[in-house]
Amino acid sequence: MKDVQIGGLVSFTTIDYPGKLAAVLFLTGCPLRCAYCSNPNLLNVRDGEYDPEKVFDWLKTRVGKLEAVVFSGGEALMQGDALIDYMRRVRDLGFAIGLHTNGFYPDTLARAADVVDWIGLDYKATRNKYGELAGQNIAHDHMIRSLEFWQSTGKDYEVRTTCDPRFVTKMDLMEIANDLHNRGVKKFAVQKYIPHFEDATHNTTLQQRDQFFADENLRAAIDALFDLVTWRDQ
Ligand code: SF4
Repeated sequence: MKDVQIGGLVSFTTIDYPGKLAAVLFLTGCPLRCAYCSNPNLLNVRDGEYDPEKVFDWLKTRVGKLEAVVFSGGEALMQGDALIDYMRRVRDLGFAIGLHTNGFYPDTLARAADVVDWIGLDYKATRNKYGELAGQNIAHDHMIRSLEFWQSTGKDYEVRTTCDPRFVTKMDLMEIANDLHNRGVKKFAVQKYIPHFEDATHNTTLQQRDQFFADENLRAAIDALFDLVTWRDQ
């Protein structure tokens, strides 16, 4: 079987798995092409720069120091069984397993569900803007299927929306929040769009990017819909 392809690694983080000290592995390959992608070097499936066995040996040295390992990307689920087998080995070391996902592969998510403890799921935009933002109209439908499947597991999760003002308006954000509320989601994260340092074309102002966070009425209306709303402005 093909090895898992790892294109990046963060050795220590307190913000990528709720309440746990974690490492993050960034896997190569993604079916989407989001305008705001902060990891454009990971989008194409290619040989990872990190030897997965060396990363695994390093993770062994983190047992007792870290509590979780988060698989991010790219879209980690694109690597299918290679990913699931690697996750299982990492979990056998005693780590909780987190997954950041755009939800494009609900069937693979279902196959990975017994080894994944928590997911952070992207709800990128309203359905009619998915194609413009992420390059695939169908991605919204896939994401909803992933959400519904994950809810059926009863495991913990967060849904997150990055507020790129080119694709998300305040009205859109409210529509997304209402949709999630109606679907029974309890934890929502609103993330500030921070332009990728190589993107000279985004053409957004700080005020446009801050508007969601500066609007007290919007914040109160969204806060009222969930048990927990995390406003990530950096
Ligand atoms: S889903 Fe994530 S990794 Fe893939 S293109 Fe969008 S932002 Fe980039």
